[in-house]
Amino acid sequence: MAEHSPEGFFESVFHQLPHPRIIVEADSPKFTIVTYNEKFKEISCTQSRDLTGSSMWDMYPADETAIAANHQIRQALNKVIETGRPVIINSLRYDIPAVNDNKPAESWWQAEYLPITGTAGEVKYLMCAIHNITQQESRKKELEQAQDLLAMAMDAAGLAGWTADLATGIITFSESARVLHGIAVGEIATLPQLVQSITAKHQERVSQAVQQAIDTKTTFSEEFIVHPLNGGTAKWIKSTGKAYYNHQGEAIYMAGNMLDITLQKLEEQRKYDFITMVSHELKTPLTVLKSYVQMLAARAKKTEDSFTAVALEKLHSQIRKMTVLVNSFLNVSRLESGRIELDNTAFLLDDLIREKVQELALTTKNYDIYLKPCPQLPVYADREKIGQVIINLLSNASKYSSPGQQIEISCQNEGALLKINVKDKGIGIKASDQSKIFDRFYRVENGQTQIIPGIGIGLYLCSEIIRQHRGQIGVESVPGKGSAFWFTLPLSK
Ligand code: ADP
Repeated sequence: MAEHSPEGFFESVFHQLPHPRIIVEADSPKFTIVTYNEKFKEISCTQSRDLTGSSMWDMYPADETAIAANHQIRQALNKVIETGRPVIINSLRYDIPAVNDNKPAESWWQAEYLPITGTAGEVKYLMCAIHNITQQESRKKELEQAQDLLAMAMDAAGLAGWTADLATGIITFSESARVLHGIAVGEIATLPQLVQSITAKHQERVSQAVQQAIDTKTTFSEEFIVHPLNGGTAKWIKSTGKAYYNHQGEAIYMAGNMLDITLQKLEEQRKYDFITMVSHELKTPLTVLKSYVQMLAARAKKTEDSFTAVALEKLHSQIRKMTVLVNSFLNVSRLESGRIELDNTAFLLDDLIREKVQELALTTKNYDIYLKPCPQLPVYADREKIGQVIINLLSNASKYSSPGQQIEISCQNEGALLKINVKDKGIGIKASDQSKIFDRFYRVENGQTQIIPGIGIGLYLCSEIIRQHRGQIGVESVPGKGSAFWFTLPLSK
């Protein structure tokens, strides 16, 4: 064919196409080869032999993979002839010898079969366009292997993995996650179904945390009770996850893991039950002790017995400390059982801070506090509970500072909020501990803190109280330089 004729032009384009192409006659079952391009010649391993005129099935030795592939190809070709429409095989294994090697190497292809019709519309020829996808397939296999390994490791660690397609809402579970949620093999579970399986009082909190993680591109971590879909016994689950986004920044899916923490929660519950019982039992004797101490103090004053008066004052101060402790324990157990209710009123924080500073001065030695005047704006909160927060932060500031080191308490107005700061120049807190100190029973373990008494519930109580007020609490700290604890409260409207 002449180079300048249209046929010549198309033929030269056909031969230079970057992917292998072959045209065969529609003479099923033989499929006689009409022509093929340079790229096809490269992979046909018969570079010395002209394949034109031979059957499509005579190209390669018919080994096991070729027999299976030929079967698929034959079906595709016949379907094109039958329907006159293209057919695609997305993943076809057809091992061909690698260049400079006679042994067939594992090869994967995507093959497209297109009809070439004659004047009457009948399929006369078929063009096969094939793409080598061996690399993608081996990457896919590696990924599948990695996923299998991860799933096995997660199962072995008692972790259960999940992914949720945010468009369809369909969730894919690892084996242990499936069992945890009581989902049968092959059963499909959706996000709304899963939210429904969370116990009613935890649903809103978990949904909000998940939504916030999606919006802020962060990780969520929540503990909640689920009722398995197969009606099994309720379980405590700790679930962690984050969203993954497309180029437009839209969340496409979420993935994470979950852990059955039922045993741990039961153990905690037993601990709280015990603490609550002991605290209740201690309350009455403490009240009795306090009233006797007060009576004796009044008598000592009358008889001007200064030694007894001083001793009783010390006794009184210790009783106050024990009362604070017992109340904290009772508050923790009330919090755990969701029995803390807020008694909100509008009040001036300035007054409350002054009261608490004075109260603390009665029980704390070497206590140097600088109080900056607060904006005279009323907050809407539970006065008693916010008082506890202030006492906790101030006593921590003095506890974790050297005697006489100054503590500063200040407030500032930030939009519809009031922000309260308690700053000390004490031992400070390492960055890695800063996020954990608000957890229940968490104490920083080091030489300095070991000798300071405490049980690690003060900050947990503070954060729960502030969270219930829909405020925020946090800390900025530099080890050796000091800490600044802050919290926010809504202003009264
Ligand atoms: P506790 O003081 O009873 O241990 P908290 O919950 O009040 O419990 O505090 C948790 C931990 O946070 C403390 O053990 C301590 O290590 C650290 N911490 C709290 N406040 C301060 C502070 N002002 N300066 C340094 N460390 C602090």
